[in-house]
Amino acid sequence: MIKEFLQLHGEYHDDKYFKELTTLKMGGHIAHFVMPDDKQELKVIVNYLKTNRIPFKVIGNGSNLICGESEYNGVVISLKKLNDYHVEDDILYAEAGVMVPALAAALAKQGYSALEFAAGIPGCIGGLIYMNAGAYKGSMADVVTEVEVLKDGELFWFTADELNFGYRHSIFHDHPRWVVVSAKLKLSKKDPKAIEDLMADRLRRRKETQPLDKPSAGSCFRNPKDDFAWKLIDSIGYRGYRQGGVCVSEKHSNFIVNEENGTAEDYLNIVYQIQDKIKEKYGIRLVMEVEKFNC
Ligand SMILES: Cc1cc2nc3c(=O)[nH]c(=O)nc-3n(C[C@H](O)[C@H](O)[C@H](O)COP(=O)(O)OP(=O)(O)OC[C@H]3O[C@@H](n4cnc5c(N)ncnc54)[C@H](O)[C@@H]3O)c2cc1C
Repeated sequence: MIKEFLQLHGEYHDDKYFKELTTLKMGGHIAHFVMPDDKQELKVIVNYLKTNRIPFKVIGNGSNLICGESEYNGVVISLKKLNDYHVEDDILYAEAGVMVPALAAALAKQGYSALEFAAGIPGCIGGLIYMNAGAYKGSMADVVTEVEVLKDGELFWFTADELNFGYRHSIFHDHPRWVVVSAKLKLSKKDPKAIEDLMADRLRRRKETQPLDKPSAGSCFRNPKDDFAWKLIDSIGYRGYRQGGVCVSEKHSNFIVNEENGTAEDYLNIVYQIQDKIKEKYGIRLVMEVEKFNC
């Protein structure tokens, strides 16, 4: 019944695994996976699932998720087909599934400044807004002006000051069934070469300091106030620590990487050990930035 419904409203698969859909490359089978073609289909799907009390999870590029091996008996909705964008009067309108690194590069070529900070963040517009993702002292909160949200069965535009943006936080953390559908971002004009050079320099620095050649979900922990998670992890001797197929990166100790067929269990075992030791040594509770799902 669910399968027949979803097949009518998007590209449907019943043979997808989280390990194919997440940058950490972990996680088990998904009972139902669907990619709506547009926001009207998305609306119909979400309303059907809510009415029928069927669990669902909206994902972008899966770059902040750690998913367990057990079967997920709900519906994963990928927004990768909501990928239109255009610029009008220095305002970018982008759908939630637009991949940010490619978008940042395309904007830079046209001399539009806004997403330089995000050029190396491998997520979609919706995921970056959900997380208020940021780097180099910039974050989505600085550039987003309005967000179109699917909420209670209808589409609404929220202004940025209604979104409760904070450090890796937005209103969407408190409303997990709301869906970011599209957004408007304010752009400014700059020399394309200056934008491209800045982004290239930052991408080069990322390559030098982060294990980008290995599957990860980016920084595992949030930085505690006035401190850095990687420093605390180093101080308890966990750089390079290995458990099963998962390892604390030698290159950046706040990245936990999937070396070889690692599981969420291996990953979380390391997370809990680090949290316990840091709590014991400093009285600080490190909070995960990566989101656990279905584990
Ligand atoms: C190598 C690497 C480097 C990274 N560097 C950074 C960095 O510098 N700064 C930073 O902040 N993060 C960084 N990250 C983490 C990650 O890329 C960000 O958190 C990003 O915002 C996640 O976007 P996503 O589309 O992949 O979201 P997903 O991982 O797919 O989803 C994350 C959460 O957002 C929700 N979500 C996704 N789309 C929507 C939507 N349309 N509506 C409602 N909810 C939605 C999901 O349900 C989930 O709860 C990095 C990750 C990697 C792998």
